[in-house]
Amino acid sequence: MEHLYCDMCGKPLLLDEDVRFEVKIEVYAAYDPMEITEEDLEEDFEEEIHELIEEMEDMDEEELEAGVYKSFKFDLCGACHKVYLNDPLGISTRGQGFAEN
Ligand SMILES: [Zn+2]
Repeated sequence: MEHLYCDMCGKPLLLDEDVRFEVKIEVYAAYDPMEITEEDLEEDFEEEIHELIEEMEDMDEEELEAGVYKSFKFDLCGACHKVYLNDPLGISTRGQGFAEN
């Protein structure tokens, strides 16, 4: 905890500084149980489940984990906090710095 750095710009975040922001991001697959109808329940799931299992076998552990639940935690300085809030998904910076294939 003594050596915190801003995860965006790398600036040291001193513990006695009051401007320090934590960003917590949770990403998980969202299912809406209300969408399951009686018709769905009557369907034969066996084939679907079989396909799903085959699909999962092709993925490595990391991919599987990412598909189910992923959380991130970042520490930001005051300046980066402002930048982050303006563009939390990095939309404006997308495509910059990386050449398109
Ligand atoms: Zn920063």
